[in-house]
Amino acid sequence: MTNTTDGAVPAGLPARLRRERQTIVLMIGMYCRRHHGGKGGLCQACRELHDYAMLRLDRCRFGADKPTCVKCPVHCYKPDMRERVRAVMRDSGPRMLWRHPYLALMHVIDERKPAAAACVRAAAATRAP
Ligand SMILES: [Zn+2]
Repeated sequence: MTNTTDGAVPAGLPARLRRERQTIVLMIGMYCRRHHGGKGGLCQACRELHDYAMLRLDRCRFGADKPTCVKCPVHCYKPDMRERVRAVMRDSGPRMLWRHPYLALMHVIDERKPAAAACVRAAAATRAP
């Protein structure tokens, strides 16, 4: 029953994946507050983006070996969602440093880890021609 910090993070996930979820949830929240005046909750568009991002993380084939999404060789987002999440990251990324320095720092560290070999192989096998 004491499983989550914000409701979006299932229990039992490796710390890295929990951080990745927390990071994207926070970034979408900041973006919505700044651009859409969302108070205490996300607007409908941002909620949709949030749900989509969580779904992609749930379905990520790499599981615990997952590289950060920026580094991931498999682009699993559909193009319009990809654009939206990039806008959120551009906008909220720098703010994370001030608001949530630990998560921001860990994200940078995670990003520096090379993608797992299995990950790279899988990507090579699925890359679109
Ligand atoms: Zn919004």
